[in-house]
Amino acid sequence: MEPPPVAPPAAAPLSDSTKLSPHFTLGELTVSATARARGISNFPPTEEMLENLRTAAAGMEKVRAALGNRPITVNSAYRNEEVNRLVGGVPNSDHTKGFSVDFVCPGFGTPYDIARKLAADASLMQDVDQLIYEFGRWIHISFAPQRRKQILTAYYKPETGKQKHHLPVVQAVNPETGQLLG
Ligand SMILES: [Zn+2]
Repeated sequence: MEPPPVAPPAAAPLSDSTKLSPHFTLGELTVSATARARGISNFPPTEEMLENLRTAAAGMEKVRAALGNRPITVNSAYRNEEVNRLVGGVPNSDHTKGFSVDFVCPGFGTPYDIARKLAADASLMQDVDQLIYEFGRWIHISFAPQRRKQILTAYYKPETGKQKHHLPVVQAVNPETGQLLG
């Protein structure tokens, strides 16, 4: 007698605790304080975005290792178009594709310390499209496939208010004002 057909195992439904990599969950990479505050859903990402988030999570494992395996706090990674608009993100930003992560790692040091450490890590930078030290307050890192290995500082100038400027190096920024130090 033929054995009864066995149904293929159903894929586990996606949840906040779905692991994208050993140390990063789907919940961490879809977190959005703005979405939560406005009652807007940022979940789940599409299948394509989920693949990109796995790429980002793999990259973040290397970041975590480079920072001495200290816990990373993700401020924002994947943002759907609506959430991205609400936070004032650039349209088509790598965040909407799931390739970018904004984070801090207080156990390692300040965002400046982190930017300098990661920018000097040639092995990590092989996988990086953009590493941006943003306004002295957090790190934006993108693992988009272009892999331009760009290293930038985002800052404000006193004369142009909240207009974003970039320098092609890591240069210290005052986190209170977002302006270059010294
Ligand atoms: Zn960002």
